[in-house]
Amino acid sequence: MTTRRSFLVTGVALGATTILPTATLAQEDGSNTFETDAGQITVHPLQHASFVMETPAGVIYVDPVGEASIYEGLPDPDLILITHEHGDHYSAETLQAVTAGQTQIVTNPAVYDMLPSELQSKAQQVANGETLDVSGLEIEAVPAYNTTEGRLDYHPEGRDNGYLFEIGGRRIYVAGDTEDTEEMRALEDIFLAFIPMNLPYTMDVQQAADAVAAFQPTYVYPYHYRGEGEGTQDPQQLADLVGETDAETEVLMGDWYEPGEL
Ligand code: ZN
Ligand code: ZN
Repeated sequence: MTTRRSFLVTGVALGATTILPTATLAQEDGSNTFETDAGQITVHPLQHASFVMETPAGVIYVDPVGEASIYEGLPDPDLILITHEHGDHYSAETLQAVTAGQTQIVTNPAVYDMLPSELQSKAQQVANGETLDVSGLEIEAVPAYNTTEGRLDYHPEGRDNGYLFEIGGRRIYVAGDTEDTEEMRALEDIFLAFIPMNLPYTMDVQQAADAVAAFQPTYVYPYHYRGEGEGTQDPQQLADLVGETDAETEVLMGDWYEPGEL
């Protein structure tokens, strides 16, 4: 297992035509590119829980929040996935700003009910365990919830979503805010996963490492890993812990935070 640190630090941009099957190409702008049977997927980590994926199935925004300027220079979304209602995942204001004519929105039922009517008209809801077909892309809602006493109220079971979908033969799992649930551990054949860590809202680095060792994605981005004070979990520590297991998973370091940002 190898670990990629911040791509910005390397300052090396590889040519986009270089083909490294099942490997990633670190780009100068902090994005990362993955090969699929249908073409390339480029992941742009933006902040904390927000990212954009350019895929052969369209441009997917996940939990876009924050200033509209964060999304400037990126293509408009064909699809926006919203995992749950917390302010670091759902912002009606940001959605209004980034939503374009062709955009379809997928949310959990609780967020669907909160959407302003003009956004709701572009949205579909999907509940835990259900699958939704969005223009040919099958999206499964994976339960996202806390399991530890004292944290259960943050993300009560049954309300919030993770998302699972397949593009060009690659299964992609966005965990949302969750601990290492049995549903996560039982996932199979995941190519790319996004796993949250921070306390008290999601899980600690050891739980995250245990989960990764259980379902062994090819690549995993730790995200959502800063918190107040000691709530922050260290992505490098995750890489070290995963490296001690028999998982072949590569832990990817995205530029999720500005230096010094909480
Ligand atoms: Zn949350
Ligand atoms: Zn969150």
